[in-house]
Amino acid sequence: MTTTEKTKQYVLETYGRFPLTVARGKGTRVWDERGREYLDFCSGIATCSLGHCHPALTKAIAEQSTTLMHCSNLYYIGQQADLAELIVERVVGHPGKIFFSNSGAEANDGLIKFARRFGQATGRYEVITFNKSFHGRTIGAMTATAQTKIHEGFDPLPTGFTYVEPNNLDAVKAALTDKTAAFLLEPIQGEGGVNPMTREFLEGLSGLAKEKDILLLLDEVQCGFGRTGDLNGYDTIASGLAPDGISWAKGMGGGFPIGSFYVAEKHAHLLGPGSHGSTYGGNALACAASKAVIETIIAENLTENVKAREAQIRETIAGWNHPAITEVRGHGLLLGIGLKPDALDIPEGKAASIHLCAALIEKGLLVPPAGPEIIRLLPPLNVSADEVDQALQLVKAAFDDHLKS
Ligand SMILES: *Cc1c(COP(=O)(O)O)cnc(C)c1O
Repeated sequence: MTTTEKTKQYVLETYGRFPLTVARGKGTRVWDERGREYLDFCSGIATCSLGHCHPALTKAIAEQSTTLMHCSNLYYIGQQADLAELIVERVVGHPGKIFFSNSGAEANDGLIKFARRFGQATGRYEVITFNKSFHGRTIGAMTATAQTKIHEGFDPLPTGFTYVEPNNLDAVKAALTDKTAAFLLEPIQGEGGVNPMTREFLEGLSGLAKEKDILLLLDEVQCGFGRTGDLNGYDTIASGLAPDGISWAKGMGGGFPIGSFYVAEKHAHLLGPGSHGSTYGGNALACAASKAVIETIIAENLTENVKAREAQIRETIAGWNHPAITEVRGHGLLLGIGLKPDALDIPEGKAASIHLCAALIEKGLLVPPAGPEIIRLLPPLNVSADEVDQALQLVKAAFDDHLKS
């Protein structure tokens, strides 16, 4: 059986997969089973922040795996303490504490539990989230996700979530009740189509949260750890924010599965002994891997490269003045190219984005879609100017090939 056949027989078909089996990766490149090379501007969906098999990450995993992989949170773990210190002191910059999970959805579930604990004393429990958001696939995180297609067929969903239009402070004010405990949002919506929050909105929401004693919880799972050109995605949009809670995953492990959330110091007592846990969460191996990734991002000043490559991408695409491209949106290397489906020759019933992503695989470039009319560019944070040039040539060729005559 081929990998495709075996997958179809034995793996639940919850994913719509492209017809490609990735066998090997190095830096910004991957190879399929037959040895054909591809540029990888998907990076495991903003996850392989240092590219594939970066020597610092490989070394950290190899060395830690010979010393201690896992013990249990029944005991103290040096690598976990070191990583928590690094995140609080160097990334967040405000006093607080970290809980370690294994994924983004779990990290967001933790933030939702934090909101419930916070509201207990005053009888509040509602979390306001935003249309087109994506927070993950556990029952809690999926209910927080304000997209009906993700809720379909899973009734009854947990109660206590209210969905509001993003970038509209009046809509948020209108949705407030005496039960509102928290706002949870992505500073830049990733899966929902690369939709950045505006500075006015984030600052307004932060002010409203303070005024009404509501938690400001930011989902940095996709936009965190350098992706936007700053260590925190929210810093790229609005400076001086001090969120009550932050969730991360994806890029913090560079491909090693790990997630986490931060709780500001003044609330840390709400999640005391016995209130939350995870067997794997924060084990020595995952924490050693994540520490190597974050230290490399900081030491190599990769946020500067992110900003330079963003400018290069924006300039290049603007220069095409392409009739099938509406815009480039997002921040740093979390960018979406807007497609004009009417200007493109796409088979009936197929989403333009998915059709173009498939065509780009044929050309040797991996990029993920984000909704039917956006393709995302999510290269590693250390992608080179040459690699960006090569990838953009392929993007332009794919658009040209599909232009309606
Ligand atoms: C991917 C993603 C999640 C879910 O993370 P998983 O690790 O897949 O559970 C949550 N929030 C955002 C913003 C994401 O992009």
